[in-house]
Amino acid sequence: MTSIQPNLALSDNDWLVSSRATLARSRFVAKAETIGRVGHVSDGIASVSGLPDVRLNELLRFEGGRLGFALTLDADAIGAVLLDDGDAISAGSRVTGTGQVVEVPVGPGLLGRVVDPLGRPLDSDEPVLAEMHLPIERPAPSIIDRDLVAQPVATGILLIDALFAIGRGQRELIIGDRATGKTSIAIDTIVNQKHTDMICVYVAIGQRATAVQRVIDAVRRHGAPERCVFVVAPAAASPGLQWIAPFSGVSIAEYFRDRGQHALIVIDDLSKHAATHRELALLTREPPGREAYPGDIFYLHARLLERAAKLSAELGGGSLTALPIAETDAGNLSAYIPTNLISITDGQIMLDAALFAANQRPAVDVGLSVSRVGGKAQLPALRKVSGPLRLDYSQFLELEMFTRFGGAIEPRVKAQVVRGERIRALITQPRFAPLRPIDEIALLAALADGVFDTLPVSCVATVRTRLAAHLDARGGPAAAALVATGSLDAPALTELVTVVRDLAAQVGAAPAPEAAST
Ligand code: ATP
Ligand code: MG
Repeated sequence: MTSIQPNLALSDNDWLVSSRATLARSRFVAKAETIGRVGHVSDGIASVSGLPDVRLNELLRFEGGRLGFALTLDADAIGAVLLDDGDAISAGSRVTGTGQVVEVPVGPGLLGRVVDPLGRPLDSDEPVLAEMHLPIERPAPSIIDRDLVAQPVATGILLIDALFAIGRGQRELIIGDRATGKTSIAIDTIVNQKHTDMICVYVAIGQRATAVQRVIDAVRRHGAPERCVFVVAPAAASPGLQWIAPFSGVSIAEYFRDRGQHALIVIDDLSKHAATHRELALLTREPPGREAYPGDIFYLHARLLERAAKLSAELGGGSLTALPIAETDAGNLSAYIPTNLISITDGQIMLDAALFAANQRPAVDVGLSVSRVGGKAQLPALRKVSGPLRLDYSQFLELEMFTRFGGAIEPRVKAQVVRGERIRALITQPRFAPLRPIDEIALLAALADGVFDTLPVSCVATVRTRLAAHLDARGGPAAAALVATGSLDAPALTELVTVVRDLAAQVGAAPAPEAAST
């Protein structure tokens, strides 16, 4: 029979020797655990061995101070993504784990700043004043922490506010081919927050530096840059920085959401982010799936966008609205990344290259666009007047094709075409010309009342441009009450229609030179 007994044969001296050996071994082990070596490095990826305790997403420090993070953990090596350029790193370079996951500085000190995805300033040498640091990957609010989307995000774009209203806490995808005005819609929305309390975060991934600069300049010129943060990982940045950019942006925005404020994040764009993810995954030898994207791309984007939410009153009632952007190839919505993103988000604004080429901008495809939750957040007055718009416009688009072949047209059909042409003129809106909700309500109410039907199509845009000033000068008490309450009663409706009718009469009698020539 064997019994567990202390080895009484061991002398005191033996104990001392054995515990010293253990101590020496444990010191040695601790050292080996914290310092690793680069096995090989290429294309922004380093294979690191000798760091068995590193966690997923842990920040790693390479010899010379360069940073990276652990993307994949295998039994014998870590797939590390470099966040700085890898020129100074070579096989055999020393690597240490920092014990911290990748974090980004957050707080009001970032407002008005242009930073990289690690929060390092790109606009000046002035340091970024951080209130605290947050991990770039954070859990999304649970269902009980959320509230219903009930407040609108006004884009100032008539077509979107009327037909595809966006609510605070919603995720609305902006999708379309190359150069169809995707960024412009997002920037117009940011610019329109000039008169609201919304904090805007614009994340640029894999774009040319000049394109990003144009966006920043546009917001500085037309919007409220002091309430915006620009997180920039241009095409020249390391793939690692581009990969973390949307996550950093969301953490920066969440700081405000969690303090009862309202934030809006534009991610421009997730197609480039997906391509970066595919590049990193292939380099770290993850098995490729559909279109060579690794299988976790859906989960990656889902857990990113799930963090956009409207929080419950107990958690301060803040919100984070996400406007991710995605690119399609020849309008193909059924490609892997577009279908993924469409199923993750609460709706999409689909842009059409043919409409864009025909100068109908914003080139929104009314048939393929949808907003699934924003309707409930729309101002009641706006909802009331925009009701017939979708049907009238869709019918017109069909009839227009039909009437192109000529022939006699019934008066009822003719009236529908006349109305449709005016709708199209009204929703063709230039950039940086946002409409206030009251202007939008007045225009749509007047449209439904037939005010524009007798006006030449070329004059419609002039009425829209001049309306704000006219309404401010001529609007009566009912219109003022409408601004306060958001609901439309009969006196306010009459008042608004009268104001637009007066203006339309003025414009129609003396069309502006640009209108007369078209
Ligand atoms: P990319 O695929 O390169 O990112 P994009 O889809 O983001 O392009 P934008 O850069 O927003 O497209 O716009 C392309 C061009 O269309 C720009 O020159 C812009 O000025 C013009 N544009 C966009 N919207 C409008 C508009 N409403 N009215 C007139 N021009 C517009
Ligand atoms: Mg763009």
